[in-house]
Amino acid sequence: MHYCKTFFNYNRRLSEVATIGKLHLGGHYPIRVQSMANTDTNNLEESVSQAERIMCAGGELVRFTTQGVREAKSLAQIAQTLRAKGLQVPLVADVHFNPAVAEEAAAHIEKVRINPGNFVAGHDGDYSDLEYLQEIEKIRARLQPLIQICKTNGTALRIGVNHGSLAPRIVNRYGDTPAGLAASCLEFVRLCHESNFHNIVLSIKASNTLVMVQAVRLLVAQMNEQGLQCPLHLGVTEAGNGEEGRIKSAVGIGTLLADGIGDTIRVSLSEEPEMEIPVGRQLVDYISLRQNHVPIEAIAAPHFNPFNYHRRNSHTVKQIGGMQPPVVITTSNEELFPTPDIYWDSENDNRNYQFCTLSYSKLNAAVLEELEANPNYVILLQSEHVNPVGEMRAFFHTLLRHNITNAVILCRTYNENNLEALQLKAAADLGALLLDGFGDGILITNNNTKISAQDINSTAFAILQASRVRMSRTEYIACPSCGRTLFDLQSTLNRVKAETSHLKNLKIAVMGCIVNGPGEMADADYGYVGAGKGKVSLYRGMECIEKNIPEELAVSKLLELIHTDGRDS
Ligand code: SF4
Repeated sequence: MHYCKTFFNYNRRLSEVATIGKLHLGGHYPIRVQSMANTDTNNLEESVSQAERIMCAGGELVRFTTQGVREAKSLAQIAQTLRAKGLQVPLVADVHFNPAVAEEAAAHIEKVRINPGNFVAGHDGDYSDLEYLQEIEKIRARLQPLIQICKTNGTALRIGVNHGSLAPRIVNRYGDTPAGLAASCLEFVRLCHESNFHNIVLSIKASNTLVMVQAVRLLVAQMNEQGLQCPLHLGVTEAGNGEEGRIKSAVGIGTLLADGIGDTIRVSLSEEPEMEIPVGRQLVDYISLRQNHVPIEAIAAPHFNPFNYHRRNSHTVKQIGGMQPPVVITTSNEELFPTPDIYWDSENDNRNYQFCTLSYSKLNAAVLEELEANPNYVILLQSEHVNPVGEMRAFFHTLLRHNITNAVILCRTYNENNLEALQLKAAADLGALLLDGFGDGILITNNNTKISAQDINSTAFAILQASRVRMSRTEYIACPSCGRTLFDLQSTLNRVKAETSHLKNLKIAVMGCIVNGPGEMADADYGYVGAGKGKVSLYRGMECIEKNIPEELAVSKLLELIHTDGRDS
């Protein structure tokens, strides 16, 4: 099964074209950047004004929460108001649970997103083959009217699968796995195609970057086998805000873009929606530079499996390699927090480690022989290629094919004066390799002194965390907020962070609503979820522990719960 032509050369996957109003997406069209409003969809003035801000920032599609028929009708007014101002940005209705709402929205605006996980209700427990087929029948019957409305009105459909809200029948058959995510998506694709409806876009999102990347790769590989070329929308859900949100998104989205996958992206940040656009744009622009690059000649290692994470076996040299978490190395001599594992300079090189600097172009038979004879050499792997991911992958595949197990540090040097740009580029480059199981450490340097050593150090730790290879801080899973959000998500997230950021082994979710929040927070240890106006429910894993706590008491109740569980030390 193949999800891309080669691991080493950038080749954008050629998909079918979806038409969304006047916008084309997929094929050779540019990768579209979009966002989602967090206004009350029934508030015309605020919704129009936010759509305008997203557009002004460069957003090419704007999605709105569409809980009910009333919101679907409000979308028609939002569209009319925007069109009257000469603004043609296509609007997308985000619909969960209620096919009737999707049908109403499809008559008014350019695109509707449905979630296969909750399009029709399933039941818990086991599914016999017959029950499974009966449920597919139910979906077929419920989807047909929507498809007809889409065909009549030229409306596009996004089949948007989320890790946190898989249908019970899928979980029963495949588990909560990348295979289940891909299967859920393909079931709906087949139903659309059998009705000769092709104006569809697919997405599989998760807050876990590894799950998201593997699931999308699997989906593409399965589509390739079946001769399907549906365009893809990429995103990491509940990425949070600030540095973490940007880095997590760049690891997940950047890895797939580097694979040549993705026709539109949304970076979900718990910030103002227009803030998402420049982040997405920078990612797309950075990866797109790889088009038509000088080819990288390499042979893939035969046993490498891109659908199943396996860290490359490496030789242990003191703190580096083997089963130890990847290290952070710095060339700075400042005191930094968290403390890097190795302060590297040429003296250190002589005293503690035998580092050797290499790039793929230097990897010849003599070098391979020397590496094999000296497993204690730790390789500082560099790349000057416009496609560093492809070139570094070529290096690792060559080591794998020759059974060379020297530990390898991924080294990248940038020339940025803007921290966000550095974070996005480093996360996209290094995250893609770490998710492949490559790298025993990272060393990031920047030629421009405008970015502090502390910021670079923090970026390095955040990349390891976002790539799921090393936890060094509390993991926050926070929804970006939308029209369903029941509190001020940004200030609440910051309050929760301020009180819990010392709990570095925990995953804490802050979710705006009880409708989608508990499902979407997937693997969080604790959840702080909006339950009603001014009311919060607290979760331990998926279990609701206390309901409807007044908002002003909820953070201290969360701390109490963590303390009672003995997880605050
Ligand atoms: S969890 Fe609820 S409030 Fe948050 S983005 Fe999802 S639907 Fe909106």
